[in-house]
Amino acid sequence: MAYNLNSKIRDLKPYDPILGDFPIRLDANESFLQPTDEILTKIRDAAASVVFNRYPDPFAKELCQSFADFYGVDEASVTAGNGSDELISVILGAFVMKDEAIMTLSPDFSMYRFYGHLNEVKCFEYQKKADFSIDLDELISLTKEYDIKALVFSNPCNPTGRGLKREEVRKLVASVNALVVLDEAYMDFWDQSFIREAGNYDNLIVLRTCSKMIGMAALRLGFAVANPSITNAIRAVKSPYNVNACSQKIGSIVLKEKSWLDSGLSEIKASRKELSSMLKFLEQIYCNQIHVYDSVTNFILVRVLESRRVFEGLKKAGIVVRHMGDYIRITAGTAEENMKLIRCLKTIL
Ligand SMILES: *Cc1c(COP(=O)(O)O)cnc(C)c1O
Repeated sequence: MAYNLNSKIRDLKPYDPILGDFPIRLDANESFLQPTDEILTKIRDAAASVVFNRYPDPFAKELCQSFADFYGVDEASVTAGNGSDELISVILGAFVMKDEAIMTLSPDFSMYRFYGHLNEVKCFEYQKKADFSIDLDELISLTKEYDIKALVFSNPCNPTGRGLKREEVRKLVASVNALVVLDEAYMDFWDQSFIREAGNYDNLIVLRTCSKMIGMAALRLGFAVANPSITNAIRAVKSPYNVNACSQKIGSIVLKEKSWLDSGLSEIKASRKELSSMLKFLEQIYCNQIHVYDSVTNFILVRVLESRRVFEGLKKAGIVVRHMGDYIRITAGTAEENMKLIRCLKTIL
């Protein structure tokens, strides 16, 4: 044989979400809302005006401007990516050298370690406490002990649903001798964003995505916000035409729909609240079988006995949630979806 797959990719399997036709999908933390007819018309017109034979704008300037206006940051500090997933990979590949180390937290979003592994950097993992809290001083001192070059985590956290307050993030960023990659994929649902302070630090990248609250997972749009020198470096290392022309146009239209986005946000928050209180009601009845965690996001983590059986039971009823070890993670859906989930869960318990 002339070629063998190397050891870092030999045993990898393609990302395998739960495929198939399930009437109720509460597994990927997407928004349950669709654009209004009026917005869909604007999207159609914009798609028709795309110049298909030309490459798109490599810096997605109009899109970044819409993003910057929506979040109140400077366009010069924003880089668009093909989903924040792409940006995580680009950043870990470029900002950390091969023999250097990054630190991730556990539990947290699994892609950080995956991209770290692919880029052949050392990955240390900080274990959160039993209640998923973080001992900041301990974390800071570990980053120094292990000479960590980048600290990567989600805030609020997927899958725990809890987050660090702005004051704590400020302390962390100011105290570590490392680049902090702060993934705020769910910060639209909470009020502790650090995005407006991103430009004040020389060791911070804040990531955002259009896949969750914005409701545009299909477009694959993510953003990195950082000071000008880091931003220049990200722009220099990303692939030139990483965000396609359709996504650029549609994304910049959607990010201008502030009143639609605001009312959608209220609806999603109301759904999370409702789902949380129904789950906590179940918890009172089945207190030795389930434990429901508080969440500041659009999903809820539940520790459940026989989690595999519960997950499969829900799936058989046409409801998919995310199964992770002794836990299931449930995305807030429409009122009807939440109700069906609760009824089905009750029957299974
Ligand atoms: C969903 C999610 C993302 C993915 O974002 P894309 O922009 O869709 O790639 C990133 N980080 C966390 C923590 C997520 O849960």
